[in-house]
Amino acid sequence: MISLKDINKSYPGVVPLHVLKDINLTIDKGELVSIMGASGSGKSTLLNILGILDNYDSGEYYLDGVLIKNLSENKAADLRNYMIGFVFQSFNLISYKNALENVALPLFYRGVSRRQRNKLAMEQLERMGMGDRATHLPSELSGGQKQRVAIARALITNPSIILADEPTGALDSKTSKEVMQVFRDLNADGMTIVIVTHDPGVGEQTNRIIRIADGRII
Ligand code: ATP
Ligand code: MG
Repeated sequence: MISLKDINKSYPGVVPLHVLKDINLTIDKGELVSIMGASGSGKSTLLNILGILDNYDSGEYYLDGVLIKNLSENKAADLRNYMIGFVFQSFNLISYKNALENVALPLFYRGVSRRQRNKLAMEQLERMGMGDRATHLPSELSGGQKQRVAIARALITNPSIILADEPTGALDSKTSKEVMQVFRDLNADGMTIVIVTHDPGVGEQTNRIIRIADGRII
């Protein structure tokens, strides 16, 4: 599913910052893996490359056999939209839209009819145990509920992989466990999931921990 070969990435500057160093990594379809490492070790940079949100300088990244390199912005956006679901620490929900509208939004951008969008969004909310909160605004939801809405939104486009950057970072430990159970259930249904985390308790609940230190996998 994911194959990284000798990936290097620097951020430009007076002194360029070499953030990822000769990264070799394979993640198979159906895996639930975590990426752990100290702050600044390059975790988010790696996840952004996996999510086709950022480029790399050298090496090769294959996603489902497609070489992700020197893509036009249109092609990158297409692949991203059709293959990848993103989940973030800060939920990234739109504050003036209710749960159902937030979940339905990616389908709006695809020109799906309102009726069909709402039907599919409701199905995803129900799958997350959030059917009874469909008309609530994000401000009327708990942190764990917001993250469930965000996960429902990530799922609505039927991605082949979920990438989550510190998805439990804003949650207390009990809620964090509940959200991890959601990821585990999705994985049991076959979803490939990559979670960046600081939290060893979260890492423990994945099937493989990839450790990164100073831009290298250790
Ligand atoms: P954290 O656990 O704090 O989120 P991280 O492991 O996700 O850290 P990255 O965000 O990947 O770390 O950052 C790795 C290094 O690259 C850091 O030194 C950071 O300051 C630097 N960096 C990240 N993004 C940029 C950018 N857009 N431009 C320049 N430097 C950057
Ligand atoms: Mg980070």
